[in-house]
Amino acid sequence: MARKRVMPKEMRVAPALDESLVTAVPTHCHALLINPFYAKDPYSSYGKHVLTPTLALSSIAGSTPDNWTLAYWDENLLQGHPPADPFPQVVGITVHLTFAERAYELAAWYRERGAIVIFGGLHVQSCTEECAPHADALAVGEGTQLWGHILRDVENGSLQKRYDGSYKKPYREDPAPRRDLIPKEQFLTRGSMIATRGCHNRCNFCYLATEDMHMPYQMRTPQQVVQEILDEGSNYVVFVDNNLGSRPKYLEDLCDALMPLNIIWSAAVTIDVTDNEKILRKMALSGCTGVFVGFESLNNDSIVHTGKRTPMPDDYARRVQMLHDYGIQVNGSFVLGFDHDRPDVFKRTVDWIEANRLESATFHILTPYPATPLFSDMEKEGRILHKDWSQYDTGHVVFQPKRMTPKQLREGYEYAYDRLFSWRSIWRRRPQQLAAVPAYLAGSLLYKKSNWLWRLLIKHRLTNALWKPLIAISRRRHVKYRESFLRHEDESLKFGIVPPGV
Ligand code: SF4
Repeated sequence: MARKRVMPKEMRVAPALDESLVTAVPTHCHALLINPFYAKDPYSSYGKHVLTPTLALSSIAGSTPDNWTLAYWDENLLQGHPPADPFPQVVGITVHLTFAERAYELAAWYRERGAIVIFGGLHVQSCTEECAPHADALAVGEGTQLWGHILRDVENGSLQKRYDGSYKKPYREDPAPRRDLIPKEQFLTRGSMIATRGCHNRCNFCYLATEDMHMPYQMRTPQQVVQEILDEGSNYVVFVDNNLGSRPKYLEDLCDALMPLNIIWSAAVTIDVTDNEKILRKMALSGCTGVFVGFESLNNDSIVHTGKRTPMPDDYARRVQMLHDYGIQVNGSFVLGFDHDRPDVFKRTVDWIEANRLESATFHILTPYPATPLFSDMEKEGRILHKDWSQYDTGHVVFQPKRMTPKQLREGYEYAYDRLFSWRSIWRRRPQQLAAVPAYLAGSLLYKKSNWLWRLLIKHRLTNALWKPLIAISRRRHVKYRESFLRHEDESLKFGIVPPGV
């Protein structure tokens, strides 16, 4: 059985709201955007959320009219309760099911003191009726195109109860996110980018399969992405797209555009990115050091059941090796608790991760998000255990599994993380390129073995300072790797040997 973890209170409980402030005078045309607090998972890394900032609110911020002033507050950065001076005329809160209750508390506090509260985010789309009484207006669907319009209506005294945004509007027309609002020192990198929106899949458990939400795959132009990277000035970029690889040709063009920047980058892709070795080569040469891959399961039947169009698990190992051959590290995502999973799934999954030397992995207990096909199936079958959304965080069991008990599922999840975060497992999964091992070990120490330290790092705004040298080392190593890759490629061609990826 996994060891129980003691988590600092600030990581578990939202900061108290300032009840001593009884009345306030809203500042005309001043808006505040809030990312509410959520409790961290005691079995994962406590620093997970400060690697790269979410762009949900900074994207919306980009469409704020010029005559409005704007502040941004992320409660997860442990800087206390959200600001009230100047007191905002409008408060925009992003609402996700795991922190919906906190969003309602924040909304009540600001509304009682005279602010107008607007909700946006996925929970507003999936549970509109539940959210409605807690806010003055709801932005349902794509928010960037709505925010400016809502603020104009506030100014004109004509605020509506509901605004609907469409995901069909060309994504490349959206303004760039306002990264300047995000405190740089509090993240490993502020260079989170979104080049594309949507995914070519629609897996039954994914939030992208939410009823009435249809997000066609859309891309910003490679030139727009390059400009955003240059504007941010970051040499480590993390693409937080759902799937950067849904359109192989686009990914290829993007790699071409990234090549001259000499940056390093990582992104979420599906494993079918390995279908085309030419793309892997371009990814490596443009600075891709790692990919986040949703393997979901090692069981073919489970994959078929999700509806995911993907290579089958018995071909995963070969494809992981292809990524490794190009110096691309693999962070795998695994869902535990599918109907075909038995109690041996936990050990089998970690054994496989170690055997194939995945440098990192995340585990998620299967979670039926409201308004997804998985949720409606489970509800029809009477398998939903409760609707306490705060526990729909992929770290708790909220449904009745088919081939094990909820307790077995939770304990198996804890076992998987405990084993993955052990030194023995970290060492077994070290990168095959020797030069990449020191940074990998240092990163593992910081990310996986330093949960006791994260509260202090976050609270004292030291995250970026600590990670910066590691990023610099990784980038220097990768630039050398690219040079030697090209040299070897030239030599191989000279001798008539066709190297991989050419
Ligand atoms: S492949 Fe990933 S992002 Fe795409 S629908 Fe499936 S789970 Fe969602």
